[in-house]
Amino acid sequence: MKTCIKCGFVGDVSLFAKKLNQCKQCISKHKKEYREKNKEKIREQQGKHYKKNKEKIILQISVWSLKNKDKKSVYNKKYRKRNVDKINTYHGKLWSEYRDNLDVRYIKKLLCNSAELKYLDIPPELIEMKRIEIAMLRELKNKQ
Ligand SMILES: [Zn+2]
Repeated sequence: MKTCIKCGFVGDVSLFAKKLNQCKQCISKHKKEYREKNKEKIREQQGKHYKKNKEKIILQISVWSLKNKDKKSVYNKKYRKRNVDKINTYHGKLWSEYRDNLDVRYIKKLLCNSAELKYLDIPPELIEMKRIEIAMLRELKNKQ
């Protein structure tokens, strides 16, 4: 048994973080607060991390994409091809807005198009990486 120094919770060791006298709930709360407070800093760090490890990350993404290929995504792609005009007209206006704002939906669409991913199965990390990649490419374009 252990006692949490933050909230006073008493419980089994498995409910506590290793080597810390804080329960897992307090720690996840702390992490969430930290993320909220340091959004800009974290984004910057992720950008740096991405620049430093670009090749590795791209490799990870492509390995991940290969592993997640399946019949359903092929079906989805076929469906999209058949209905591309319909989809484009309907979403045309929205999509240009999403594109300009690097909206999650836009990023997901790009990922789906390029790697046969399942729309709902795209992990948030991958979306974030892609967003950073696009933002960087845009920045480069603007500088030219
Ligand atoms: Zn606690």
